[in-house]
Amino acid sequence: MALVVQKYGGTSMGSVERIRNVARRVAKTYDDGNDLVVIVSAMAGETNKLVALANELCEFPSEREYDVMVATGEQVSIALLAMALNSMGYKAKSYCGFQIPILTDSAFSKARIESIDDSKINEDLKNGTIIVVAGFQGIDREGNLTTLGRGGSDTSAVAVAAALKADVCEIYTDVDGVYTTDPRIVPEASKLEKISYDEMLELASLGSKVLQIRSVEFAKKYGVVVHVRSSFNDNPGTLVMKEDAEMETVLVSGISYNKDEAKVSVFRVPDKPGIAAKLLSPLANANITVDMIIQNVSHEGYTDLTFTVPKGDFKKALKIVQETATEIGASGVASDESIAKVSIVGVGMRSHSGVATKMFQTLSDEGINIQMISTSEIKISCIIDSKYTELAVRVLHEAFGLAKKDVTVE
Ligand code: ASP
Ligand code: MG
Repeated sequence: MALVVQKYGGTSMGSVERIRNVARRVAKTYDDGNDLVVIVSAMAGETNKLVALANELCEFPSEREYDVMVATGEQVSIALLAMALNSMGYKAKSYCGFQIPILTDSAFSKARIESIDDSKINEDLKNGTIIVVAGFQGIDREGNLTTLGRGGSDTSAVAVAAALKADVCEIYTDVDGVYTTDPRIVPEASKLEKISYDEMLELASLGSKVLQIRSVEFAKKYGVVVHVRSSFNDNPGTLVMKEDAEMETVLVSGISYNKDEAKVSVFRVPDKPGIAAKLLSPLANANITVDMIIQNVSHEGYTDLTFTVPKGDFKKALKIVQETATEIGASGVASDESIAKVSIVGVGMRSHSGVATKMFQTLSDEGINIQMISTSEIKISCIIDSKYTELAVRVLHEAFGLAKKDVTVE
C-alpha cells in the first residue's frame, strides 16, 4: 500500500465527461490498494474567466478580493470530482485550502505555502476516504483567502505530497510529459524520460508551462520525485528528480521560450552608486520581479538601463518606473511588449564549452537580432523580437540535435 498524491489540471477537469474520466483513474488507483489524495485545478478556462471579470470591473482590483474570487474555480472542481466518486460508490470528501488548512503568507495572488496541517487528511485516509483538495488556494494567518499564482495547483500538490511524505506525486496534465521543446512549434520534439530539478526550474522559470516553478522548488527542497504525465493515456511521463550522471552527458536538454515579459528602458540615468537600487527597489516593494537587467557602459556620467518584467505587472511597473525616472533625473523611459525570451537549458553545459557561441551563431544565421543576454550555469537566454520566437526555437532545437531520432537521454 502506497500513499499517492495525484494532481489533475484544468484540461483534465475541463468538462463533466472529463471529470468522470478523472474519477475513473482515481478509483483505479484506489482499487489497486493505495491511499489517495487528489489535488485539482479549476475547470479549463474558468480561472481566465474570473480574472477577466475582475479586470473588467477595475484596472487594479483589490488584491484581497481578487483572491476570494479566483479561488472559487477550484471549489467547483473539488466538489464535482468528489460527487463523481461518490456516485461511483467511493467514499470521497472535498476540502478547500482553508479547511485543511493550507497556511500561506499574505502575498495575495502569489502567496507562498508555509505549512500544511495533515491531521484531517490522515484521519480521513484511515477510514478509507479519497481526499480531494482544492489546488491554488490557501489561507493566511489573518484568515484571508489567498492564491498561489497562476498554475499554483502544481505547488499545492507537491507541498501536500511533501507534508504527507507521499510515496508518489503524479501531476496529470494534457501532455505526455516534459518535452525538449514545445511540440506545437517543433513536432519532432521528444519526451524526456527524466529531468533534473535544476533543469526543470530553469525551464519553468523560462516559461515552459508544464509545472509551476514553485512546485519544482518545493520538490527539490523536499526531495519529492514528481511524475508528470497525461491524464488521457497510460504512457509513462517524465520524472522530475535529482540529477544523475547520465543527465550530465546531454549538452542541452530543452529549449524554452517565454512571451510573457515586457522590456522597460530608462535612458540617461546618472551613473552613480545606488541608482540601480533606487530604480528597482520600488518595483520590488510592489512585488514585481525584475528578470533580465542590462546596464550599458556609461558615457559622460550617464548610462541606460534596460530590464524585463512580467507582462501581467507591466502597466504597474511602467507607472512606477516613470515616477522614479523623473525623480532621479533620467531623460526618458521606453517600453516594448513585443519581445520574447528564448533559452537553452542543460546541466551538460557546466562541463562543455562553446554552447553559447553555437546558440548566438544559430540565431545570427537566421538574421535574428539578440537584444539582451543572460546566463546561469545551466542556461542561456536571449531576448529577441517576439515575431521570431517560433523560428528561433526551431533552429535551436535542430542545432542542438534534440529531435526524436537524435536524442540520447538514456
Ligand atoms: N486554476 C489556476 C490557474 O489557472 C491554478 C492552476 O490551474 O493550477 O492558474
Ligand atoms: Mg497547470
